[in-house]
Amino acid sequence: MKTVHFRFYEELNDFLTPEKRKTRFEHHFIDRASVKDMIESLGVPHTEIDFILANGKSVDFSYLVNDGDEISIYPVFESIDISEVQHLRAKPLREPKFVLDVHLGKLARYMRMIGLNTAYMNNSTDDELIETSLKEKRALLTKDRGILKRNEITHGYWIRNENTEEQLREVVERFDLKNQIKEFTRCLECNLTLIEIKKEKIIERLPPKVKDWQNEFYFCEKCDKIYWKGTHIDRMKNIIRRIKEAG
Ligand SMILES: [Zn+2]
Repeated sequence: MKTVHFRFYEELNDFLTPEKRKTRFEHHFIDRASVKDMIESLGVPHTEIDFILANGKSVDFSYLVNDGDEISIYPVFESIDISEVQHLRAKPLREPKFVLDVHLGKLARYMRMIGLNTAYMNNSTDDELIETSLKEKRALLTKDRGILKRNEITHGYWIRNENTEEQLREVVERFDLKNQIKEFTRCLECNLTLIEIKKEKIIERLPPKVKDWQNEFYFCEKCDKIYWKGTHIDRMKNIIRRIKEAG
């Protein structure tokens, strides 16, 4: 039996069993395996990891673990200043775009509400999610850490929170999106950018009170839904204010 010591940093501990969190711990193995396989067998998806030090030197995921190794594993956005390490994550996606798994429908609407480009279908299979993520360069957000262990995935993130507003805050913080918030610019149903439309063109479709009080209208080319900044968006405004003020 061979022995390796692991130490996981910061939010990577979320994936570990309690006795392994924030501490150096022993792990036993018989056959040599890649550090990626060993880390994932402990429950941590590779998409969460930015760099790995083995005996003080940075290594990539294919590194074969040796008897007696000391291995430290750091998360993507950990701001520890260690120069000349080999970062394992591809460069951040330039325009932040996302694809969400089937459990995150409510979060998808919240993300569209603040203008984030968010693909979501309530019947996507794992393979379809991965294909969309790779083809359209979208970060995959998921409640299922199993899918993040798939080798093809380059940009993925496991959503920790259960409450939708907290999930939204988590995404904004994790992907540093506070300055990208453009509320009420995207259709909540289809993700398309809304287009401004003159009141007279849609006036016969408006409820009487809206007809009297509102003058600014937007519509979605795909589903034809009309949007205006009425009282029904107060709750959304409050959520957005809290997100902007957080941190
Ligand atoms: Zn639409």
